[in-house]
Parts: sequence; structure tokens; C-alpha cells
Amino acid sequence: MTRKPLAILAGALLAVTAACTAPGSTPAAPAGSGAGGGATGSITIGIKFDQPGLGLKEGSGYSGFDVEVAKFVASELGYSANQITWKEAPSAQRETLIEGGQVQLVFATYSITDARKQRVSFAGPYFIAGQDLLVRADDTSITGPDALNGKKLCSVTGSTSAKKIKDTYSQGVDLQELDTYSKCVTALAAGTLDAVTTDNVILAGYAAQDQYKGKLKVVGKTFSTERYGVGLKKGDTALCTKVNTAIAKMVSSGAWQTALDKTVGPSGFKPSGDNPPKADPCS
Ligand code: GLU
Repeated sequence: MTRKPLAILAGALLAVTAACTAPGSTPAAPAGSGAGGGATGSITIGIKFDQPGLGLKEGSGYSGFDVEVAKFVASELGYSANQITWKEAPSAQRETLIEGGQVQLVFATYSITDARKQRVSFAGPYFIAGQDLLVRADDTSITGPDALNGKKLCSVTGSTSAKKIKDTYSQGVDLQELDTYSKCVTALAAGTLDAVTTDNVILAGYAAQDQYKGKLKVVGKTFSTERYGVGLKKGDTALCTKVNTAIAKMVSSGAWQTALDKTVGPSGFKPSGDNPPKADPCS
């Protein structure tokens, strides 16, 4: 009577032992090493794909200051460069991409604003820019935002740049909103509109592109303060704190300045004296 249950018990024990031994016999794969890495083994980061000097995709390569800061931060979080998946994050889609979990972090010339804080949280800021205007090099009529009456102006849907024009300078301005700044710049160079507005550092990157050299100029009269933050899931204070620690390290080590010189430097753009900024507390 006792034999049978014992045999069953022994068999069960064997099975349990086998089950425990098999995976244990090879060291657990470090998070993210190859196919078995799972969700913790990679990170998806939202950037711009069409902003030279900030976030630019060329072939399979990515360059720009946002990309450099993102790589540094990701590395501090434990992700190597090949564990990063880059995803395009157009201005109007940034909050939605974060809310839906399609990206974990956004480094995309993404200004920290109270309205956006209703939906996402921000680490940083890691850079301070200001809104400006891009015009054709021979245009002497557009000297600043007050000189836009009767002009065709282009900006991007969901940006602080378009909002500022609508809130403050809309009277008499014909504002067109497209989904990317590069489309605005193409139209400006082609003569179908008169000016493009967004952050000075972005505009400087376009003006310095080979195809636009000598054809476009940044007006140079900024009319806003744009504090670039790192977008992340609303309320993830732990992640925000880690990102801020990483950014502080990037600044204190000199890597922030080196990255800026390498990416934004070639356009000739001179960042304002507010840089590098101090991070806001995470909340
Ligand atoms: N920094 C501004 C913003 O977050 C303009 C640039 C952009 O659209 O990415 O809206």
C-alpha cells in the first residue's frame, strides 16, 4: 500500500528536480542578451528623424544631439547602443507614443510644458532653445514675429511653435501646419511660403544643410524659451530620477559639451548662456 505513493512521490521529485536543474545548469542570460532578453532587454526611444544636428535618420544611422543624450542616458540605465530601438516621434504624436507604451523615453526637441505634463512626465531639461524664424536669405521684410502680417508661415502640428503663433501673433498671419519641419523648409526654399517657425537650434540645422546654404537664414530674434525635457510615462518618478542622474553625469563629465560641439556645432549655432540647464525635480 505504501509502495505506490512512494514511487509516485519519487517520480514527482525527479520531475521537479529535473525541471529545476535544466534551466539552472546554464547561467541565466543577462537581461537583453539576444532573443531571450525579453522586455527588459531593450528600450525604445522616440526621436525626430528629420532634424539635422538634433535627431536625424540617414540610411540606418542616427545622429544629432538628442540621439547623443539618449545614448548616454540609455547606457547609464544599462542599455548598450544595440539594445536601443529608435522610433520616429513627430511633434503631435509624442504624448500618445508615451501613453501607449510604444516608446519608453522621448528625446525629440520636446519642450517641457504644463499642458504636456497633464499626460506625461519629464526629466531634464537638458537643453534650452528659443523660438525663431527661418526665411529666405534675400528676405529683408521679416525681421521678427511682429513683421509677419500678410505672410505665409509654416510650423508643425502639436508644437509649442504653432501654439505660440496662434496664441500671440495670429492676427494677419497665414499659418500652415504640417507634420514635420523638413516639409515646411522644403516649401520655404521652393517659394510657396514665406517663413518657418520653430526653435532656433532646429532652424540653424536646416539653414546649414548643403542644399540650403546661402539660400536660407535664421532671423535671430527669439521670442520664447524652450526647455527640452525627456518625455516618459506620467508619474514614473523612479525613471525620471535615473534619467536626471544620467544627464547630470553627462554634463559634469564633459560628454554633454562634446556631444553638443559635434552635433550642433557644425551649423554655427551658438547656444544661449542658460546652457547646460539644471534639471527640474521629478514629480
Ligand atoms: N520644442 C518645441 C516643441 O516641443 C518645438 C519643436 C518640436 O516641435 O519638436 O513643440
